[in-house]
Amino acid sequence: MEKKSSKTIKWINLQQEAIEFKPSRSLGNQYRIVPDLFFIGEKESYYMFYTPLLLRIYMIPKDFVISTQPIELRKEYFPQLIESMLMLPNDQALALIPRVNLNGTSNHIRLILSSRCNSNCSYCYAGAKSIGKSINLDHLETLINYLPENLHIDIELHGNGEPTIAMQELKKAYKLCKKRFKFVKFSTQTNGLFSKKTADWLIKNQISTSFSIDGPEFIHNKQRPAKNSKTNGFNKTMETLRYFQEHNLGTSVICVVTAYSNKYLNEIYQFFKSINIKTIKLNPVVDVGNARLFDDDIHNPPDISEFAQNFALIQSQAYLDKIMIDSDFMGSFHTRKPHPMHCQACMPQFVLDTDGKILACSEAASIETPDKNPFYWAEIKDNQVIVNEEKKNELMNSHMFNMDGCSNCFLKWICAGSCLHQNYSENHSLRQPIKSHCEAKRAYTMTYFSKLAEYLLNGLPPIASDSSLNSV
Ligand code: SF4
Ligand code: SF4
Repeated sequence: MEKKSSKTIKWINLQQEAIEFKPSRSLGNQYRIVPDLFFIGEKESYYMFYTPLLLRIYMIPKDFVISTQPIELRKEYFPQLIESMLMLPNDQALALIPRVNLNGTSNHIRLILSSRCNSNCSYCYAGAKSIGKSINLDHLETLINYLPENLHIDIELHGNGEPTIAMQELKKAYKLCKKRFKFVKFSTQTNGLFSKKTADWLIKNQISTSFSIDGPEFIHNKQRPAKNSKTNGFNKTMETLRYFQEHNLGTSVICVVTAYSNKYLNEIYQFFKSINIKTIKLNPVVDVGNARLFDDDIHNPPDISEFAQNFALIQSQAYLDKIMIDSDFMGSFHTRKPHPMHCQACMPQFVLDTDGKILACSEAASIETPDKNPFYWAEIKDNQVIVNEEKKNELMNSHMFNMDGCSNCFLKWICAGSCLHQNYSENHSLRQPIKSHCEAKRAYTMTYFSKLAEYLLNGLPPIASDSSLNSV
């Protein structure tokens, strides 16, 4: 008889829920392996498995495993597999699988307050100019009255330009939404080129404010110069950020990565760390709007596989530094819940533009005219919300279960078919992901998980309370 392994199963909890998860112990239950257990590699004398539905990475001693593909585990170790929750009561295991809800209403509104901007970003997806329109508040009233008042609503005060340029409209929109909904949260994404008076208003009214900064001065001012050539955009944005930080705010940024700045991703990360940023969203440029008009390093997207490898290294460091890293390229393993829809565009969300058109995704505004563009799914007309049911259905059904090639992918519950807008821009289909992006996402994940496994095996203490590395 073979000698039993003295090794134990170890695991990494990627989120707080994973720490809190408890198996039900009801008697008479049949046990089964947790659904969607994916083999992702090996490290020393362990095989690595990813369980997206339990939000964990498992390290299983090689002796426990007969085969990794398909996964077959030795019966004599079933007690350890049950103890480590890799085997669960049948009902509990099946209940982990997320379902698609096609009857829900999105609780997400993004208001395009203005198409004007005081920045001159090389890659602007909206092609924002100094002159342009502001939101029509009658349209906004029609939209919010169309939604149930008891909805817990998230409102993004946004722009296909800079939202604070339309400060009067922004304040009125805030008041209207506050009056209409009992539970409402506001956020904004801004370049920070505004006055102290505006800053005070945003702080006083608890608008969750994230700053658009592309890194240290030499990168930021190259990619996002202020329109006014006398203004040093970087200095002004930093001045505003510091003012927010004096009020214990201003710790969240979005940084757009171009072919140029991808070379400096580590410097960018170190810069954000040095200025006390706690949440960094690193978004590769998307080839629409101004980015499509020019062909050079500050307009072009980075090579996606190079970006993915840089991103994995930064993510591994950020984990130790307790800094949250996220990206439109790939949602964070430490915040994103398993879901069959990639983003709010599938719900679809309400992006209200300055013409009263409603889109599912603001970045997709300029890819085609509204009649042909699948993201324009409703509009305000004669004080009513008119829905194009065909387009709405198409968006709602663009979830992972209907995506080309996703059902066996180990990222199916986190990537869930990828960005619809990028799928459409590249392949003219919402449901056909970009193959090179899929490969880059998988490579990124393997590198990052392998690093986390290394931390675990080296016995580093549990790190980052919100991203929760825990070993058993
Ligand atoms: S990486 Fe590609 S195949 Fe995998 S879930 Fe995302 S889009 Fe689908
Ligand atoms: S479709 Fe892409 S760009 Fe649009 S909201 Fe979804 S993830 Fe964002």
